[in-house]
Amino acid sequence: MNRDEIIRWLREEDAAKLEELWRRADELRRQNVGEAVYLRGLVELSNRCSRQCLYCGLRAGNAELARYRMASDEVLACARMAVELGYGTLVIQSGEDATLEPRWLADLVAKVKAQTPLAVTLSLGEWHREALELWCKAGADRYLLRFETASDELFRHIHPPRPGQTQSRFDVLRTAREVGFEIGSGILIGVPGQTFDDLARGIELLAELDLDMIGCGPFIPHPYTPLAAGGEGREVHADQVPHTAEMTYKVVALARIMCPMSNIPATTALATLNREAGYETALARGANIIMPNLTPEKYRRLYEIYPGKVRAPDERAYHGAMKRRIEAAGRSVGVGRGDSPHRLRARASGA
Ligand code: SAH
Repeated sequence: MNRDEIIRWLREEDAAKLEELWRRADELRRQNVGEAVYLRGLVELSNRCSRQCLYCGLRAGNAELARYRMASDEVLACARMAVELGYGTLVIQSGEDATLEPRWLADLVAKVKAQTPLAVTLSLGEWHREALELWCKAGADRYLLRFETASDELFRHIHPPRPGQTQSRFDVLRTAREVGFEIGSGILIGVPGQTFDDLARGIELLAELDLDMIGCGPFIPHPYTPLAAGGEGREVHADQVPHTAEMTYKVVALARIMCPMSNIPATTALATLNREAGYETALARGANIIMPNLTPEKYRRLYEIYPGKVRAPDERAYHGAMKRRIEAAGRSVGVGRGDSPHRLRARASGA
């Protein structure tokens, strides 16, 4: 699919025509990653952040937020919960916590790997090669870093670089792959300033980056950020991508078509916009992963990247409900790590 075709689908509003897009994505999902929906347990390690991203509620400039970092034992308890619930992966996510000691995290990863059969995914922002290498050697399997938007100029606007910083998110992803990680990236859909051409270019980039995981979710304005609703920070033009559930389904479907063998989650931000059917709809349009939150409640409410995040007060009850929803959608809960077929194939051919 070329850029113009992608843009045509992104702009398509005729429900009958869109059925064709949904059908193609669902068919490719079935052929390439099958019926299983893999669940990944999410642990929100720390909401400390040294960056000033215009879109994110964890930004250093948000003085309203009480900051925390979980203790090792608390993370290990989440890992045990993930095992008890039958998950194959623990995703450790965090603000870009400059006070995080790489060695401490490496020890924690090593403990999770020694005590459980879980795959470990890290999503900690932009780190240097030494840290990535240390974590990979400690046993971490995957690194997740969204490039958020394809336009370099817009990215630097919404994600101001550190003084003197030259490495881009693409450099970090490349390094993560070089040191041995499976890599994932994705797009923040409809962030103010993002045009249809940017978004289509982003979808092409997902394929060019040869990703194992692709996470795309709608931008949701956070009141304590410069991009709070109504304060878009720059002129909103006719070509602005809307930050809607519908646009997110289109991106999920196009990502599946462009990257048939990747793991593609139905994201929490999407489920926040459509609580009743966001997960099911994305699963029917290309997605094959869901990431239930295992963070202890006292921290979870402080990890407010955007407002109104779907809450799951009791992990076990939530898990039961999620399993029923997946089965009612005609799918099954995946067993095991759920490595991407994309990666498994590359490994088998010695890449
Ligand atoms: N600090 C790490 C990981 C945490 S943020 C990092 O920057 O990679 C994880 C993702 O949340 C980001 O990649 C971004 O796409 C998403 N996010 C941030 N603010 C958001 C908002 N206001 N609405 C929706 N998603 C948001």
